[in-house]
Amino acid sequence: MAKILVINAGSSSIKWNLFSDKLEVEAKGVAQRIKMAEGILSLDYNGKKSDTITELPSFLETVKKLVAMWEENGIIKDFDEIGQVAFRIVNGGPHLQKTSEVTEESIKHLEESIDLAPVHNPGAIEAIKAFRTLLPNAKMTMHFDTAFHRTLPKLAYTYPINYSVTEELNIRKYGFHGLNHHYIALKSEEILGKKGVNVVSLHIGNGASLCAIENSQSVDTSMGFTPLAGVMMGTRSGDVDPSIIPYIMKHKNMSISDVMKMLNEQSGMLGVSQFSSDLRDIGKARLENPQAQFALDLYIQRIVDYLITYLNRIQGKIDAIVFTAGIGENDEYVREQVIKKVRLVNLTIDEAANKNRDFKDYKLISTKESEIPVYVIRAEEEMYIAKEASKFFN
Ligand code: ADP
Repeated sequence: MAKILVINAGSSSIKWNLFSDKLEVEAKGVAQRIKMAEGILSLDYNGKKSDTITELPSFLETVKKLVAMWEENGIIKDFDEIGQVAFRIVNGGPHLQKTSEVTEESIKHLEESIDLAPVHNPGAIEAIKAFRTLLPNAKMTMHFDTAFHRTLPKLAYTYPINYSVTEELNIRKYGFHGLNHHYIALKSEEILGKKGVNVVSLHIGNGASLCAIENSQSVDTSMGFTPLAGVMMGTRSGDVDPSIIPYIMKHKNMSISDVMKMLNEQSGMLGVSQFSSDLRDIGKARLENPQAQFALDLYIQRIVDYLITYLNRIQGKIDAIVFTAGIGENDEYVREQVIKKVRLVNLTIDEAANKNRDFKDYKLISTKESEIPVYVIRAEEEMYIAKEASKFFN
């Protein structure tokens, strides 16, 4: 079996991980600032990290430079060693709801769904086309952040708006971060030693979503038609009353795209704190800066409200509450405050376990008295994709 390359392409970047046939990470890196002045190729291989500044004028040129870099560093000897390329895709739209092979038809479906993920999907499509040109013999698959949520019941995915418009335009909650929420379900099965787990998964990184997992399937999730919905995030507002949009347009003389940009890029933690989207900065500043503390309080409250809703949504005994992703894995204050604010269920945190940073793939942070165990599980999207890809053609 040959190597598997996992690609996560954004609007101006390509994150890559190269896995051996035994699914071990052999090398990884990021190409950043594609189509901007001075691109950066970062490489992490054999315990050494390096950054190379170079022009990356297009996705095709970037992929050419990546392949050349892998050859120069002895990561691959020839192109055919890469037997499979697996692409992470934010939204596959209504036609692509399961892991799919890259074909002319699936690329066409993806192109038709650009509106649904305007920031992410164009880069992904360009990356797919570039890798198809350079690695014509590799088998290729698409892995969707929306796929895990295809089990949402109609009651969870329907918006209460004019139903004929809903049907005509395929308006529904898609949900995102599904690759990691699914991994969390599988990892929880492994940790708890049972099949079919009931879990609330809190994926809180720069983007954030909660997922209600019943019998290891997604039954509700906080992101919606796009990744703007749900809890407050690093730069995204999360849920707001839609009437605010025309109100701001009118009074600030802004266009719809200006306001959408504000809600996506200048809101959330950045917008409320007025200085940073990064929880590390906010955490350091909060004791001296009341606005930073307020932003954090608002952030925590919005997470708690969804957590309560999802604890109530799942039928049957809940097996675990799981924190994951950048903030979920690293920020003990956010975890502690979220759990403290849950009043309907008796949850108790073990302070020492919560503070301990020295853990491998997961840790338990609740005490024996807690009605529901609370875990931290490290996000593993790339490994999850590599595993799925390795099984796809067998
Ligand atoms: P993305 O959604 O971009 O994948 P990540 O899951 O990598 O985001 O999370 C990134 C965020 O995690 C950062 O913006 C930062 O707020 C937070 N973070 C990372 N490390 C720490 C830390 N040690 N303490 C608190 N927050 C952290």
